[in-house]
Amino acid sequence: MNTVFPAWDIPSVPVAGSAARFPVRHIYCVGRNYAEHAKEMGGDASKEPPFFFTKPADAVVPVVPPAVGVIAYPLATKNYHHEIELVVAIGSRGVNVAAERALELVWGYAVGLDMTRRDLQNDMREKKRPWDIGKSFAQAAPIGAIHPVTAVGHLSKGSIWLDVNGTRRQQGDLADMIWDVANTIAFLSQFYEMLPGDLIYSGTPAGVAAVVPGDRMVGGIDGLGTLAITVGPAA
Ligand code: MN
Repeated sequence: MNTVFPAWDIPSVPVAGSAARFPVRHIYCVGRNYAEHAKEMGGDASKEPPFFFTKPADAVVPVVPPAVGVIAYPLATKNYHHEIELVVAIGSRGVNVAAERALELVWGYAVGLDMTRRDLQNDMREKKRPWDIGKSFAQAAPIGAIHPVTAVGHLSKGSIWLDVNGTRRQQGDLADMIWDVANTIAFLSQFYEMLPGDLIYSGTPAGVAAVVPGDRMVGGIDGLGTLAITVGPAA
């Protein structure tokens, strides 16, 4: 392809047990998908349909143990929050997919962090403006290796947790998701064609809080290993 300046590599994530990588197309994120987190954010999500926001594909920061990733403390925030999440990696196309068929679209799963500029998100929320500057920025989507469904099966329960500097900050169970993976995909596919390479960050359990430069985050999900990230100096 003839480009006016050198094109960049397609963002991609390593696959566990393989030399091949998973190319990233879109990143969708679910808001308030665990009741206890919805409460700490000042709402009751249990009766609402799921809602979504997005991040750019190049926000992924892939980190595979034993490596420890480094992300810069982002611009323009004084309240930079961690949200540990199950990430669903889509491998097939689908629109208006029934929940009963939705898991057929899933290629694999990973541990991810939906990093959030909470002060900017809250400011936009109060003004009824889009969340983009709170959620969608450089290095906002750290992710561990993607584990293929063929190796780990589908995940509907199991511990999800995050430690900061060795202290447990977030602890939940995938069974506590308000909208499980199948229903999340079914709902999302009413609005977007699901495409190979799409990632869905499926929401975070309670305990979200701030990190500062020098903090070490280690998160994990039963069956998917861990994700370790250090917060670097300001960008
Ligand atoms: Mn989130």
